[in-house]
Amino acid sequence: MDILRKQPGALPVRPNLLDYDAERATFSWTEVRRSLDGLPGARGLNIAHECVDRHAAGPRSTRIALRWLGRDGAAQDITYAQLRDLTARFANVLAELGVATGDRVFLLCGRIPVLYVALLGALKHRCVVTPLFSAFGPEPIATRMEIGAARVLVTTTSLYRRKVESIRARLASLEHVLLVDDEGATLPPGTLALQPLLDAASPACEIGPTDAEAPALLHFTSGTTGKPKGALHVHQAIVAHYATGRLALDFHPDDVFWCTADPGWITGTSYGIVAPLAHGITQVVDESDFDAERWYEILARERVSVWYTAPTAVRMMMKAGAEAARRHAFPKLRFIASVGEPLNPQAVRWGVEAFGLPIHDNWWQTETGGIMIANFPALDIRPGSMGKPLPGIEAAVVRRTSDGGAEPVDDPGFEGELALRVGWPSMFRTYLNEEARYRRCFAGDWYLTGDLARRDAHGYYWFLGRADDMIKSAGHLIGPFEVESALMEHAAVHEAGVIGKPEPVIGEMVKAFVALKPGIAPGDALKRELLGFARKRLGAAVAPKEIDFVDGLPKTRSGKIMRRLLKARELGLPEGDTSTLEST
Ligand code: AMP
Repeated sequence: MDILRKQPGALPVRPNLLDYDAERATFSWTEVRRSLDGLPGARGLNIAHECVDRHAAGPRSTRIALRWLGRDGAAQDITYAQLRDLTARFANVLAELGVATGDRVFLLCGRIPVLYVALLGALKHRCVVTPLFSAFGPEPIATRMEIGAARVLVTTTSLYRRKVESIRARLASLEHVLLVDDEGATLPPGTLALQPLLDAASPACEIGPTDAEAPALLHFTSGTTGKPKGALHVHQAIVAHYATGRLALDFHPDDVFWCTADPGWITGTSYGIVAPLAHGITQVVDESDFDAERWYEILARERVSVWYTAPTAVRMMMKAGAEAARRHAFPKLRFIASVGEPLNPQAVRWGVEAFGLPIHDNWWQTETGGIMIANFPALDIRPGSMGKPLPGIEAAVVRRTSDGGAEPVDDPGFEGELALRVGWPSMFRTYLNEEARYRRCFAGDWYLTGDLARRDAHGYYWFLGRADDMIKSAGHLIGPFEVESALMEHAAVHEAGVIGKPEPVIGEMVKAFVALKPGIAPGDALKRELLGFARKRLGAAVAPKEIDFVDGLPKTRSGKIMRRLLKARELGLPEGDTSTLEST
């Protein structure tokens, strides 16, 4: 088999993980926890203290924590000391407003400095924070804020007017809307301008006692059926962020790190905020969306040394050609990793062509909170494989047993569900208000990931697909149910079935099959109207890109849409077991 061999001795910087087996044998989460401070006076563990205050109090205080690059060429550097003061101000604003420990703070803005300040400031005040994608439409925003019982929302005037005003009446628990850019005198009713509040607040804040098990971050992920699920993570998760920053991303003290993910996706929080700041390194934040040339310039000009990106972005760069990359010099770049969707072997190798470095795939999900399986700098790469479990993580490919349990299968050819033995620090602690749904994710002490995989004889894991109907489009995990529900709000739609249709660059494209109400004629104009309707409600990242009209949808006898069958028919694949099919 094709293997990319590594010669750890020849790497420019000695990797933190040099001997995988030895590290696995000696690894201990308790030991990693010792690399963190804890709140002074043994008052617990708080993410914001580990990410900000402890560095601000030491020799790293003047180091740049965030180098923000604005869409229009503006830039702002924020040192650890400045970040301490800014986040303290935000925590004090919350206190002044009467916001309590444990209250939910939602953030809806692009990658602007205040997003980072508000997230860490809210953690200082011991609130639970949810960053939402600013590309979401009103419907996904409303659903998530309702489930999360948001008390505070930080957003921009423009996003508020476009996406929140129309749903505000549904958000019964929402008390404070803080607008980042008050855009002159006319604040929308029921909102406050954030900047004057920050200016008036004290830049000093002592973080209150924080139980390591206290909730800190609430990240939504989609389900095949039902509403999105709020995966709740606790302050303790930072132990895993710190460990994975060290072992899987190989952070060294002088690194400049760039994670291209938006904090609306957990990667952009765990690795676009927490892990690099926990290590006291400098990280780049780019407000803009993908643009190959801009990205090469950032990598070169900012002297990025560790870069964490996603397969869709890599494939878009591949389209632009390796020569475009080779026109730049990346003398500092030494490690590239990617996550979120399968990384094809060609993309792994393209890294070598364009940057002189392979791209290291790693695997994890919202529920796991941090990287679980990875290709490490010192380990050979088997292109197409997600790599090996992190030291401290026990993974297995399991078979479900008749009594509802799960049993690991050691046979390298076996294809089954990927499972992780419970007990790592960043494991989600529940799905908010849905304890039963949470419990269904476990069999004995195995957490079942919903992904299908196999492990080869060398211990490398290979992703095979999802065990359910979830769609991965440009890195976004999209629940078909949410898309179907939005389409069915349209007066012409009787029912809808939604699938992921393979697409070479973005992985999968959201495609909807729509059956119209009796008497309504299909046609291009209606198709365009439905596409626009869905886009307005769901936002561009979630809405279908393609719609086909059908007379009816295949369903099971219990009435469930058989998306698997829709997909097989779309792709001309065998239809598989259709014994439960009720009608077509
Ligand atoms: P999310 O919770 O949105 O981060 O999505 C997690 C899901 O993305 C996983 O359950 C996988 O289906 C997929 N995923 C994440 N990383 C990889 C990877 N390296 N290769 C293949 N699929 C991945």
